[in-house]
Order: sequence, then C-alpha cells, then structure tokens
Amino acid sequence: MPAHSSYDAIIIGAGVIGACTAYELARKGLRTLSIDKLPEAGYGSTSGSCAIIRTYYSALESCAIAYEGWHYWKDWQNYVGVTDEKGLIKYHNTGCLVIKTEHNHHLDRVCAMMDRIGCPYEHVAVSDIAQRMPNADTRQYEPAKRPDDEGFGQPTGPSVEGAVFFPNGGYVNDPKLSAHNVQRAAEAHGAEFLFNRAVVEVLKSSDRVCGVLLDDGSRIEAPVVVNVAGPHSSKINAMAGVDGGMNISTRALRHEVAHVPAPKGVDFENEGVVYSDSDIQTYCRPEIGNHILIGSEDPECDVKEWIDDPDNFDDSFSEQWNVLVMRMAQRMPDLHIPGKARGVVALYDVTEDWMPIYDRSDLGGFYMAVGTSGNQYKNAPVAGKMMAALIEACENGHDHDRDPVRFHLDHLDMDISLGAFSRLREINQDSSFSVIG
Ligand SMILES: Cc1cc2nc3c(=O)[nH]c(=O)nc-3n(C[C@H](O)[C@H](O)[C@H](O)COP(=O)(O)OP(=O)(O)OC[C@H]3O[C@@H](n4cnc5c(N)ncnc54)[C@H](O)[C@@H]3O)c2cc1C
Repeated sequence: MPAHSSYDAIIIGAGVIGACTAYELARKGLRTLSIDKLPEAGYGSTSGSCAIIRTYYSALESCAIAYEGWHYWKDWQNYVGVTDEKGLIKYHNTGCLVIKTEHNHHLDRVCAMMDRIGCPYEHVAVSDIAQRMPNADTRQYEPAKRPDDEGFGQPTGPSVEGAVFFPNGGYVNDPKLSAHNVQRAAEAHGAEFLFNRAVVEVLKSSDRVCGVLLDDGSRIEAPVVVNVAGPHSSKINAMAGVDGGMNISTRALRHEVAHVPAPKGVDFENEGVVYSDSDIQTYCRPEIGNHILIGSEDPECDVKEWIDDPDNFDDSFSEQWNVLVMRMAQRMPDLHIPGKARGVVALYDVTEDWMPIYDRSDLGGFYMAVGTSGNQYKNAPVAGKMMAALIEACENGHDHDRDPVRFHLDHLDMDISLGAFSRLREINQDSSFSVIG
C-alpha cells in the first residue's frame, strides 16, 4: 500500500522515462507516487532496450534533446546524485558509425543539424570504414530484402557512399538498472514507488483528472496524473478518455533483437562501435562476452507486427531473428549464425512519425510521455526534465497548446519548443518512419 491516499502527482509506469519524470517532479518539491504493475523499476520495455545513445534523428529538436541527454549518460553519477545498492550503470562511449545512403539523404540533413546543435562528427571514406567495422564488406546491397527474395546477399553496387562517425555516442550496459538508479535518486527527494499494482481506471472530477483506481480497489487521489505506460500508453489514454483529442496516436509494435557472437578474430566488445546501416536497414552494437546486438531499421519488405493487447503477445523468436542476422552478415561476412536464437523480443510504443509525444492532454491535469517509438531510452533524463517543466507551466495556467512551452537545454545552452512533441502536431514528413525517428 502507498504511504498516503493522496499525492501531488501520480506517475503511471516506472520504466526509465517514468522514473526520470518522477525524479524531476520530486526535485521540484512535488510529493509523487509512481505506480507500476510489474515488480521492479525498468521491468517493462526498458529492460529489452538496446540502450543505444546516439544523436542523429530527422528533426532538430530530437537531435538536440539526444545530444543534451548524452551529457547525462556520460556523467551519470552526477545526474543521479546517489548510490544504489545494486550499483550504477556503465555508459560505454564507443562512438557511432552511420552509413550514408539515399535513404538517409547521404546524412546531409543530419550533419546540418549537428552543426546547429554543436555536436561533432567526421566524414569517413569508404576505404576507412573497415577501420571501425573490422572486415566490413562495403558493397552496396540496398534496397533491403528478405533472405528468400531474389537477389538477397547479391551486391547492387560496388560500394556504399561512405559514412559519418559521431564520437559522442555509445550504449548503456544495463537499461533496467538505469531505471532503478533513477528510482533511488527520486526516492532521495521523497518520491514513492508502488509495484505489483495496476491502474485500472483514471478518475475524473468535472473537467479534471483527480486520481486513479488500482486493481485492488484502492483509490489514490492526485491533481496531476502522468501516463508513462510504454506500450500500454494507448490503453491508459483510452481510460482517461483523451485519445479523441490527439492528432498523433500510439500503438504497440513487436520487435526482435538478435544477440550473437562476434565473428572470430574480431574484438567487437572492446573495439566495436554503435553501427547504423540503412543500406541493409540494420543496426548493431557491442555486447559483453564479445557479442553483438542486432536490430532492424524497419525496411518496407518486413511485415509490421502491430499488437492490440500488450499483455498478450508472442515473446518467442520467429524467422525474423534469422533475417536480422543474415542481413548483418552481408556487411560482416564472417558472422556465424548460431543454431539457437538468443536476444530480446519486446514492444515499441510507436507513433505515426516515430517521434514521441511529451505533452498535456485535453483533460486538465492529465499528461503523457508516450509514443517513444523504440528510440527514446537515450532521452529519458531530458524527457523527465521536459515533462516536469511542462507540468509546472500548465498547472500554473500556461496554455501550452496555443503557445508551446520553451525548454532550455543546459548543456547545449539552447532553447527548443516543446510543441515539437505535441499530440496535436502534424506528422513529421521528414521522419525516417523507422526506429531511427
Ligand atoms: C527491443 C527494443 C530496443 C530498443 N532500443 C533502444 C535503443 O537502443 N536506444 C533508445 O534510445 N531506445 C531504445 N528503445 C526504446 C526505449 O527502450 C523506450 O523508449 C523506453 O525504454 C521507454 O521507457 P518508458 O518508461 O516510457 O516505458 P516502459 O519501460 O515500457 O515502462 C512502462 C511501464 O508502465 C507500466 N504499466 C503499463 N500499464 C500499467 C498500468 N495499467 N498500471 C501500472 N503500470 C503500468 C509497465 O509495467 C511498464 O513498466 C528500445 C525499445 C525496445 C523494445
């Protein structure tokens, strides 16, 4: 049971973004209660995350918050400001190598946005790609195909066009632990967490939210409720009755990530980089034990597995696991495809343009940090701060829908408009319409 029957704010969900939101609200002096139906912080989709930290997206605001976020991962101890009996996460700054393709406009737009936010990068000639991706086959393979399509594994051109290396990027070793670290940070500011309890109803009084009903029948009151329910976000929005007032919606999408040994003779664990390749529409990163995590960049030839009930989906590996590894083997010819599938099957919470919604709603006091589209782990610390600023402004009477709140990114010394993440925005047509965002 929670210690009190009423709070200043209830946060539904204790994944990495929910925990960061609780932390920042508690730091502002609000008495918060985070509720999660799972047993621990970060147990939901956060635990399946590849936890890649990179700065390239299709919108300036997305690049800016990602680069701002990088500073927090790099200096995690300072961000959380506490110890954790489970230890703190480790951030590995490997840098990120991204292949230039027509699909990503040869990274011209991305580099222009990096210039605007002051984020360093270097162009990499084709002949130098193998220095960062050992033994890489640099021939062109696009468009991405399925292994049983004609021409799979056959080059379509003599070489890709080159790449860009972003020195400020990498990955976090344990995403679930990061949520726990932030839980401890939030608790140090008085935040409370309640696990193994589901929110089954969002309570309203006239035109405002006034609390939640839990699955054990208890009612907890609060003038502010924040939906950070990950792939369950559309269910919570429906409970609050706010889904009709949104231009952008959220939907759960099943995804598989493969975990395979690095090719023999390659020390990918210590020398590998975060790698994104829209020529084969695949990404990867190093993993402990000299392994590689391989994920998909959602090519059109793959059928999307939308999930209506996030509590009930097939979490066993399918043929897609093989597809991922075979696609990566085009670039890494010595990659061995193990007989037994290992990795992760989890859900993204996807919007139409694969950008998140960090916003208020049409219901007074009800807010959402949702639609994280498989690409917002890295932004969690900034998302927490943006949500706290947005909630503070709106609760003080600011009309965010008419006059979007401006948010200052301290490390970049730059302001952005939070209208970029509005539920009322038009679909971002510059989006990659993939996990790249
Ligand atoms: C396979 C995979 C790979 C990814 N890789 C990356 C990556 O490399 N880099 C990156 O930046 N992002 C990545 N992401 C995305 C990133 O992990 C997510 O955006 C982020 O973890 C979302 O955090 P969250 O706190 O919003 O949601 P979650 O971690 O899903 O937390 C939501 C919580 O809400 C709880 N909840 C739901 N409904 C209720 C209810 N009714 N009552 C109580 N509790 C409820 C759930 O139990 C859950 O714990 C990846 C995601 C996946 C699935």
